[in-house]
Amino acid sequence: MIEDAVEGGSSIPAGWQSSVCGGFKQRRILAGSYGTRPLTGKTIVLDAGHGGVDPGAVRAGVQEKDLTLAITLRLKALLEEQGATVVLTRDRDTLVELARRVQINQAVKPAVFISIHINASENSAADGIETYYFSDESEPLARALQGSMTSWMQEKDRSVHRRGFYVVKCSAVPAVLLEVGYISSSRKRSLLEEEQYQAHLASTIGAGILEYFSKIAKSSN
Ligand SMILES: [Zn+2]
Repeated sequence: MIEDAVEGGSSIPAGWQSSVCGGFKQRRILAGSYGTRPLTGKTIVLDAGHGGVDPGAVRAGVQEKDLTLAITLRLKALLEEQGATVVLTRDRDTLVELARRVQINQAVKPAVFISIHINASENSAADGIETYYFSDESEPLARALQGSMTSWMQEKDRSVHRRGFYVVKCSAVPAVLLEVGYISSSRKRSLLEEEQYQAHLASTIGAGILEYFSKIAKSSN
């Protein structure tokens, strides 16, 4: 959840479509086909939304800050397996101001900055995945991650949107903010608490990152 987000139904693109790939695939998406440690030399900042006294969205005792951290830590491990250097804006349940998160991004100057959030709505039926970006140079990253998440998971594709959320707007490098599901959906809330689902979600984000860098490399050849 992000403070100035449009919540619930009003921001759903008219033509959202169901994921073309059915099913929750139990396979290692990141295994094979990408060569050996393809992210070697790449630095990535991962930003787990909320933390400490800021729980983010809360439903039935489940707090957004705990889910974002769990997914972020899993994604960090996956990216490091692929050779990346990963810097976290927080690695525990602590409050990190938005300005500090931006400072970390500016100091590290990573290849990409990825902020992870869980959405919420008053409408308990609302669900799906959406990705926000601001600068033109961030759009390919947004599309790669949204495409990877929605093609590997049986979730509604709520599309990518340009919006000036602070942590992405203030980034000098390609930056995106992911809303990976709705804590206000009881079905999704249960899934988001499962380690297996968290790992799967992290894999789909990781696969999107690999795809993004692979495309960048191709276009610069
Ligand atoms: Zn949030």
